Amino acid sequence: MKSQVYFIDFRASYKENFLKKLDRLIKKAGLENCIQKRDLVAVKLHFGESGNTAFIRPVYIRQAVQSIKDCGGSPFLTDANTLYAGTRGDAPLHLITAITNGFDYAVAGAPLIIADGLRGRTETAVEINGNRFQQVYIGSEIIQADAIISIAHFKGHELSGFGGAIKNVGMGSASRRGKLAQHSGVSPKVKEKKCIGCEQCADHCVEQAIEMIDEKAFIHPEKCIGCGECILICENNAIQIQWNLNIPVFLESMVEYCAGVLKNKSGKALYVNIINHVSPACDCVPYNDAPIVRDIGVVASTDPVAIDQASVDLVNREPALSGSCMGSHSEDGMAAGADKFRAIYPKVDWSHQLEYAEKIGLGSRDYELVTI
Ligand code: SF4
Ligand code: SF4
Repeated sequence: MKSQVYFIDFRASYKENFLKKLDRLIKKAGLENCIQKRDLVAVKLHFGESGNTAFIRPVYIRQAVQSIKDCGGSPFLTDANTLYAGTRGDAPLHLITAITNGFDYAVAGAPLIIADGLRGRTETAVEINGNRFQQVYIGSEIIQADAIISIAHFKGHELSGFGGAIKNVGMGSASRRGKLAQHSGVSPKVKEKKCIGCEQCADHCVEQAIEMIDEKAFIHPEKCIGCGECILICENNAIQIQWNLNIPVFLESMVEYCAGVLKNKSGKALYVNIINHVSPACDCVPYNDAPIVRDIGVVASTDPVAIDQASVDLVNREPALSGSCMGSHSEDGMAAGADKFRAIYPKVDWSHQLEYAEKIGLGSRDYELVTI
C-alpha cells in the first residue's frame, strides 16, 4: 500500500496565512494520533551552524510547537551535539548558537534541551540487531521522550546526497559515540598534487590526525574519526572521501541509526520536511550557497522513507535556478526532471539511502502525494 505524503505549497492569502496552512498540514498528516495528553514531545530539528542562514525559520517551529500543544503534548526543541569542532560541539555552545539563530523560548514557545548532554555522552544504547550494528547510541532525551516530531530542512548533503527526515533523525539524534560509529567507514585521503601545505586542515582537526610531512598534509587513519570536517576546510579540494568504498556503508549506518531512534516510537513519530532555500550543502557548514530550486513547499508524513522520496522527487522535477551553483556542476542538472543532487555530488548515490531504508522495513518508497 502506498504511504500518504501530504503537501502544501507556499501560497497564502488573507483567508489562510502560511502558518495556519502549516498547522493544517501537520494535523492532517496525523499529529493528533501521535500525541496523547501530557506526552513529552521531542521536536527534532537542526538549529543551524553559526554563519549559515538556510536553516528552518524559527517562526515555523513556533507554529509546530503550538500545534503540538493543541494536541495536549508538551514539546521541547532538541538536537544532539556535533562530532566536529564548530559552534554546536557541546551543549553550552550549541544552545548559544540555537538562541543566536532565533530558537529562543521567547520565539519558539518551547524549551531547548540538548539530547546528548553537556559533551555528547548522555546516551542510551538501543538494541537493533541490524546488519551493520547490533546496538546504536542515541541521545537519551530523545529516547526518553514519548513522541518525536522531526522537522527537517530539506537540502543537499555532501555525504548523503540530500538531507531529509532519515538524516535528521538517524544522524542528528546520535550521541558522539553514535555519530562516530556512523562515520567510521569515512576516512578521507589527501590528494598530494592539490595540497599547497597551508596547514589549515591540521590546525582544524580536533583529533590531531593530520600531520604535515614535506609540506603536504597526511591523515593518520588510526587517529581519524571520519568527521569529514577537513574536507570542508580545504579550499583546494585536496582532501577527498573514498567515495565508492565509504558512501554506501555510511548511508546504511545512518539508516540503521534512524531505525534505532524509532524503535520505541511506534505510532509516536511524525516527519515534516520543509523544502525552501534548498541549499546545495548541509546546514552544518558555516555558510550556505544560493538555493538550487525555487521554494517548493512543505511535506508531512508518518513514513520517513516516503517523505524523503517525495521530497527528492519534488526538487528534481523543478528546473534549477540559473543563479545557483547548478550550472557550474553540470548542464545536465539544470533541466526540470534532472537529478539535482546527483549533478552536485556525482559520486553519491542518494537512492541507496532509501533503498536500504525500505529493505529494513523503515517505510516505503511508494507514496501518494496528497496536496491539501
Ligand atoms: S587544507 Fe588542503 S591545501 Fe591546506 S594543508 Fe590541508 S590538504 Fe593541504
Ligand atoms: S582527519 Fe579525520 S578526524 Fe581530522 S578533520 Fe579530517 S575527517 Fe575529521
